[in-house]
Amino acid sequence: MHELAPYAVTTANSRGRRHNDEPPSHRSEFQRDRDRIVHSTAFRRLEYKTQVFVNHEGDLFRTRLTHTLEVAQIARGIARALGLNEDLVEAISLAHDLGHTPFGHAGQDALNECMQGHGGFEHNLQSLRIVDLLEERYAAFDGLNLTFETREGIVKHCSLENARQLGELGERFMNRTQPTLEAQICNFADEIAYNNHDVDDGLRSGLISLEQLQDVNLFARYVSEVRTAYPGLGGRRLVHETIRRMINILVCDLVETTASNIDRHKPKDLAEARLGEPLVGFSEELRDAQREMKRFLHKNLYQHFQVLRMTSKAQRIVSELFSAFLSDPRLLPPQYQVDSDQSRRVADYIAGMTDRYAMKEHRRLFAVGEI
Ligand code: MG
Repeated sequence: MHELAPYAVTTANSRGRRHNDEPPSHRSEFQRDRDRIVHSTAFRRLEYKTQVFVNHEGDLFRTRLTHTLEVAQIARGIARALGLNEDLVEAISLAHDLGHTPFGHAGQDALNECMQGHGGFEHNLQSLRIVDLLEERYAAFDGLNLTFETREGIVKHCSLENARQLGELGERFMNRTQPTLEAQICNFADEIAYNNHDVDDGLRSGLISLEQLQDVNLFARYVSEVRTAYPGLGGRRLVHETIRRMINILVCDLVETTASNIDRHKPKDLAEARLGEPLVGFSEELRDAQREMKRFLHKNLYQHFQVLRMTSKAQRIVSELFSAFLSDPRLLPPQYQVDSDQSRRVADYIAGMTDRYAMKEHRRLFAVGEI
C-alpha cells in the first residue's frame, strides 16, 4: 500500500468493531470491510435499483451499482493522491447507497412520508441498519460487523434527534466535529460521480441536449476545448471527451484544494483532522461550478415531465405497498411479521426491494388476476 499520511485512518488508530473478530491474516481491517460489503445481499440488489432512470428504461443507464462503482473509483484516486486510506474509502463508497429504496429518491421520499409518526425513513440510516443488523451472514453476530470508521462514513448526515440514538456514531453530530478525511472524500466523490453521469445519461436519454448544456459554464468550457482540439467530433465521443475533462478538473481541484487546506491546518494526527472546518473541499470556483451544474440537472433532468411521471408512479407503488402491509401484516412474508415496531419492519422489507421486485409485489397485491 502507498504511504499513509499521519492523519489517515489506520488499523492502529481505528476504533475497531462492535463484536470481537480475529484480525485478518493477509488483508487490512478495511479490506475486510470492503470484502464483506461486496459479498452482502444488499450489494447485489444495487444492480436492480434506480439511480435516476428506472432500470427497465434502458440497459445503458447507470444503476445504483454502476453509480457505486464510479464513486469508489473516484474516491480511491483522491485518497491515494492525498496519502489517505484507500481501502477505507473503497469500503465506505461501496456501502454508501446500500439503504436506498427502489426507484431512487422518489421511493425514499414516499417511504419517509409513510414513516412519519414512526421515526421517519432516511437512506443513510438504512444503510447503517443493513450493515449493523439486517444482513444475515455470520453465525456470531447480526449484520457485517464493520469497523467504526466505515460505519461512520456511511452516516453522511443525520438529524440531532437520530444522532442521539446512534451512540458513539452520533457523537460527531452532537459535538460538531468532522468525520474522517476518508469519509469526507466519499461525499465529494459521490457528488462528482452523479453530476457527471447524470449529464451523460441525460444526454443519452434525449431529455437534455448539448444546446441546453451550453448554459452551464463547466460544460461549455470543456465542450469547446474538445471541439477545438477535434474539429468535427460529435456523438458519444464528444460527450465522453467533455465529461472526462469535467471529472478530471473536479478531482484535481479537490486534491489540490484539500492538500492546501491540510497544509494550512497541519493536523498532526487523525484526532486533529476532525477538529474545525472540514478539510476536504473544492476551491470556490469549482464549488460554484458544481452548484450551477446541480441546479441545471435539477431543473432540466430531475424535474423533466417524463422523469416526474416515473417518480409519481414510483411514489404510488411504495405508499400503496406500505399501507397494504401495515394495515394487514399477515400479507408480509413471515420473517417480516413482528410483535413490535411493525412499521419499521415494513420499511425494511420495502427498502430492500429492487425496482422490479417492488412492481411485481405491487401487482401481486393489487392486480386482480395476478398471483
Ligand atoms: Mg450515491
